[in-house]
Amino acid sequence: MNKNDYVTVTIEDMSTTGEGIGKADGFTLFIKDAYVGDTVEAKVMKAKKTYGFAKLTKIITPSPDRVTPRCPIHKACGGCQIQALSYNKQLELKDKIIKNDLVRIGGFEEEYINSITEPIIGMEEPYHYRNKAQYPIGLDKEGNVVAGFYAGRTHSIIPGTDCAIGVPENKEILEMILAYMKTCKVAPYDEKSGKGLVRHVLIRKGFKTGEIMVCVIINGKTLPKSEILVDKLTGIPGMASISLNINEKNTNVIMGDTLKTLWGRDYIEDYIDDIKFRISPLSFFQVNPQQTEKLYNKALEYAGIQPGETVWDLYCGIGTISLFMAKKAERVYGVEIVPEAIEDARDNARINGLDNATFYVGKAEEVLPEKYEKEGIFADVIVVDPPRKGCDKDCLDTILKMQPKRVVYVSCDPATLSRDLKILAAGGYELKKVCGVDQFGHTMHVESIALLERVSNRKADAKVHIDVDLEDYYRIKDAQGKDGK
Ligand code: SAH
Repeated sequence: MNKNDYVTVTIEDMSTTGEGIGKADGFTLFIKDAYVGDTVEAKVMKAKKTYGFAKLTKIITPSPDRVTPRCPIHKACGGCQIQALSYNKQLELKDKIIKNDLVRIGGFEEEYINSITEPIIGMEEPYHYRNKAQYPIGLDKEGNVVAGFYAGRTHSIIPGTDCAIGVPENKEILEMILAYMKTCKVAPYDEKSGKGLVRHVLIRKGFKTGEIMVCVIINGKTLPKSEILVDKLTGIPGMASISLNINEKNTNVIMGDTLKTLWGRDYIEDYIDDIKFRISPLSFFQVNPQQTEKLYNKALEYAGIQPGETVWDLYCGIGTISLFMAKKAERVYGVEIVPEAIEDARDNARINGLDNATFYVGKAEEVLPEKYEKEGIFADVIVVDPPRKGCDKDCLDTILKMQPKRVVYVSCDPATLSRDLKILAAGGYELKKVCGVDQFGHTMHVESIALLERVSNRKADAKVHIDVDLEDYYRIKDAQGKDGK
């Protein structure tokens, strides 16, 4: 296989970054915008020894699962990788990824995994689900002030204010801001020269409260004639908070540290289930609150908390899971590395009148062993919700030593989930249930949850070190990251 060859490929699978995968002459090709079930013609752009990357040139036979995507610019934007695939097929793919990883990486038997995996929980409405949007403001090729997204590696912006997965209010708000900038001659920020004022617009909406927040991120300290903008924005139903964020640094980081409220409160409120959260422009909050509610209710169900029980929630963020658990448990302890998130978690506990939750700042793999060795802490249930790299070995070792009755694992990467479950299973835990929950429709993100129960004390006191080889998995992923984009 050589560069510039034209090949005909039937797409058999999808990569974790959304490229179609097919074989030509025993050679594996990754093809962007090709979907499982398609037969396509593609031009080889890069050829390695056994795999390569090709560009879609023609769809010969479209996949029966192709649908007309709602967003006309989804290909260029890159936010959604699989919008042209039917939502049911998307769910089927994600379910398959979870099961495959559990078998391939976790070493569980396929039949067993099929028997314990619950049907993946999809969204009722896979559009307009994101409660948060961050739009860069800049100039298009003709020099007009626009909001949208950066085109490829350039600094020009492709206009697009009507994102199909964001809330409909985004468009109206952005158009008001662009009109104000035009009338009041306010310039957008230019990354190259460092000149200009308006960098980004952040919009958040409380789905249960209907409250809306607009935060304009500027390269300066004030926004000229801001009262004209405020006057317009306050006409939008639900508007609750309008603020400025000061970011005068030449950086890719969107938000600066300083906030100035222009109108209304400096936060909005929203609920996940019946727990109230206060959300400021800088705080973390789940972007798909409806699916988060389903996921964390599943976590509560799996935790099966009995009266009097103690729960540890590791990687607790702003304490969402901790507070769900605090409704049933005697005591809940949360551990999180980001100090601001722990401040929010404590505030959220207070706002909801839950005084049985305690939060610690630190790494789960340091806080848990230390508290176990020094204070002899104990848990009936341990919940983990780690980032993509999964749990640290020291964290898993301590969980095995602590011997909780149940472990609930919430995961955003089925590969590391599978690696960690293998370790827990070898340490005396039995995998009882698994369920996928789709948090990010039209993307390849796969969220899942697993329940383990203690069946024996086997190896529980020893350090368990099983080398699970994720190298292959990450090698392919990295190769795609570097060469495929
Ligand atoms: N359940 C949380 C979200 C978890 S996301 C919520 O509802 O808010 C994963 C979290 O793990 C992030 O908040 C991240 O900051 C935190 N984290 C990353 N590495 C960590 C570590 N080594 N120890 C503890 N927390 C960590």
